Order: sequence, then structure tokens, then C-alpha cells
Amino acid sequence: MDFQLSTEQQALVELADKIGRNEFGPKAARWDKNHEYPYENIETMRKVGFLGMTIPRRFGGQERPLIDVLLVIEQIAKYCGVSARVVVETNMGALGSIMAYGTDEQRVLVAGRILEEGDKPAIGMTEPEAGTDLTALKTTAVKTGNHYVLNGMKHWITGATISQTHLIFARITDQDGRDQGIGGVMVDKGTPGFTFGRVEDAMGLRGIPEGELIFENCEVPAENIVVCDPKDGFKKLMNGYNAQRVGAGTVALGIAQGAHDLAIEYMMQRKAFGKQISQFQGLQWMMGEGEMKLNAARLLLYKAACNARHLPNNVMLPEMKDASIAKAFSAHAAFEVVSDALQMFGAAGYSRDLPLERMLRDVRMFQIGGGTSQAQLNMIARSIFKTKFDFKE
Ligand SMILES: Cc1cc2nc3c(=O)[nH]c(=O)nc-3n(C[C@H](O)[C@H](O)[C@H](O)COP(=O)(O)OP(=O)(O)OC[C@H]3O[C@@H](n4cnc5c(N)ncnc54)[C@H](O)[C@@H]3O)c2cc1C
Repeated sequence: MDFQLSTEQQALVELADKIGRNEFGPKAARWDKNHEYPYENIETMRKVGFLGMTIPRRFGGQERPLIDVLLVIEQIAKYCGVSARVVVETNMGALGSIMAYGTDEQRVLVAGRILEEGDKPAIGMTEPEAGTDLTALKTTAVKTGNHYVLNGMKHWITGATISQTHLIFARITDQDGRDQGIGGVMVDKGTPGFTFGRVEDAMGLRGIPEGELIFENCEVPAENIVVCDPKDGFKKLMNGYNAQRVGAGTVALGIAQGAHDLAIEYMMQRKAFGKQISQFQGLQWMMGEGEMKLNAARLLLYKAACNARHLPNNVMLPEMKDASIAKAFSAHAAFEVVSDALQMFGAAGYSRDLPLERMLRDVRMFQIGGGTSQAQLNMIARSIFKTKFDFKE
């Protein structure tokens, strides 16, 4: 066990921190205020190689380990949570499942879109009647000839309207009418029968649209099936999501570290009762607690990334228990750290003139998106008591 970063990793951290501080931080309020996707940040990150870092060399990527992606995510998230989420979704999420379980043609296509066009693949699981209880999903993909016909709708899908690639979770039926369980299908923006509905007026992370995907007799070629396995399809897709959870936890960590750093700086300037507020022991203890939480979250996330199982094509899938512990802890701790950091600013922290209120709205998401904290605790409990996942729960 070695807690030191290599020289190369240190350089990666410094580069991400520099870009975040100089370029992304000053513009972060704009994406939030205008509900605007930060295309220019994505292009900067694409050029320096922060998108698709894990993609194998044979598909044009750098074949980096998961831990390197976490290092970048944390630094970027200190300044712009939205841009950090794009690093997650161009390295994990749909990409991981396609790299692990898809075909070479799908891998080439998706890798090219990320590396050359900065596409942020979307992952469509949640439906109005199927959130935590994902097995209740109703979207269907029925095989007819050489096509699958999709019907149904998804909501709260990150990247709706801006993503080119979508990995859609659907109940698959073969051409003889037999149920193949829940599988994954790739659907491109612009496919006839695939439209977008409402875009949410979300509380935070407003620079990425969260919206509805609607499928009405939407035909995709049979080659677009990524996972179709009546026995293990859903399990594979869920495992594929573990890396995304660790990435999401790291965005929360980065936002919290950013807020904590701002508070430290402010506390050494702001005076009350004739001294710097950093000299009040009560506040020092709050910041000391924050330091402990940040360090603990970081260790859990690094552990989940470094213990990940290696699948073909440099896909590193964290174990479900590691991922759930890391995500639930980081999301909870990060919210508390940002809230305490905001407190250090008094009324100024509550104003939109400073980034603290945005950071608090942004960081709240991670206890919900990517599986709620309660869902993570259910998975942790299952691993303690060795109970099976009960689909009807
Ligand atoms: C910003 C954002 C981005 C998102 N992005 C995506 C995306 O890209 N793709 C996607 O598919 N989805 C996405 N989601 C949806 C997200 O995954 C779901 O919101 C989440 O899984 C919870 O589902 P739900 O909202 O339907 O809540 P519900 O499942 O209805 O849960 C309501 C409450 O009940 C609790 N609960 C439910 N079941 C249990 C149980 N068995 N035990 C204990 N408590 C339980 C939950 O924890 C929650 O507190 C996103 C959500 C947000 C907020």
C-alpha cells in the first residue's frame, strides 16, 4: 500500500488544478445562471486529454487507471461541478458498460465520439415509476427482423438534448416474443421516434440538462444491443454503474474541498471581536471536522478505485460494496463540509455573489443521483447480512 502519487499523477493533478482555477472557476456561475452547457470547458478538457482517459490505446485513448480519472475529477470539481461531471460521464457510466460488454464496432464509435467530438454519453435508466426500484422499468425493446423497436420514456437523464450517445435500459423481447430481461441498447440522438420532453428546472448542477427521453416506435439496428443476457444482463449493467458511483462521489469530494479551501482563505482575513475568525476555537473545530471528513472520503474513493476488478478493454469495475460505501459517505460528508464552509462567510455565504450557495446546491445532488444514499445503504447491508438482491423489494 502506497499513499504517494507518482510524478506523472502529481503533474496530472497540477494541470487539472491550474485549468480549473484559471479557466473554469471564473465562468462557473455563468453555466448555473443561464442553464448553459459548458461546451468551451469540454473542448479544453478534450484537448488536454481529460475525456476518455481510460479508453484503451487500441481505440485511441490513454488507457489510464481509474485512480488517475479520480485525481482529475476532484481538481476540476473544486472550481466547476458541472465540468467535473462531464469527466465522470466521459470516462465511466455508459462508456464502461459499452467497453466491457459491447462489440468492437460500438467501442470504436463511442470512443471516437468522446475523444474527437467531446460527446458526453448519457445513461437512461430512471423512469417516472422506476427510480430506486429500477426493475419496475417499463421501456421495451422488441426485436422485429434486424431491428429493435423501442417504446417508453425516461426522465432525469443527464445530458438529455446535448448527448449524442444514449445507453438505454429496456426490457428486451426476442423475435419469438420471449422475455430476455433488462438489457442495454444504444440509441443515437436524431434516431426517428426518439425525442426529448421536459427539461428539469433543477436545484443545482444546472449547466447540464436533466431531461426526458421519449421513445415512440423508435427503430434501432440489432447491432445496437450492448447487453442482452436473460440471466445476468441487469446485474452486468448495475455492475457497470459502480465506477460511475465512485466518480460521482469524487465530484462531491472536489466541490467540498473547493468550498473548504475558500473558507480557510476567508477565515484568515475576516475579523470579528478584534481578531481573525480563524482564531475562534469553535470554528477551528468545525474546520478540523471538515478536514477529517474530506480525508476519509478521499481514502474510501481511492480504495474503491484501486480495488476495482479488471475487465477487458481497461474497464475497472469497483466492487459494489466499496462503491456504495465510498459514494454514500462522500456525498453525505461533502454536503456537511460545504454547509460548514458557507457558515464561515456569514451572510456573504448566502449571497449569489460568492460561489458557496451554488456549491451547496450542487453538492446536494450526490445523495440522490446515481442511486440514493438509502439505496447505497441497502446494498451495504446486503453485503453485511449476505442477503440477495430482492427485485421485488
Ligand atoms: C441531478 C440528477 C441527475 C440524474 N441523472 C440520471 C441519469 O443520468 N440517468 C438516470 O437513469 N437517472 C438519473 N437520475 C435519477 C436518479 O438515479 C433517481 O432520482 C434515483 O435513483 C432515485 O429515484 P427516484 O427519484 O425515483 O426516487 P424514489 O425511488 O421514488 O425514492 C424516493 C425516496 O425513497 C427512498 N427509497 C426508495 N426505495 C427505498 C428502499 N428500498 N429502502 C429505503 N429507502 C428507499 C429513496 O432513497 C428516496 O429517498 C438523476 C437524478 C438527479 C437528481
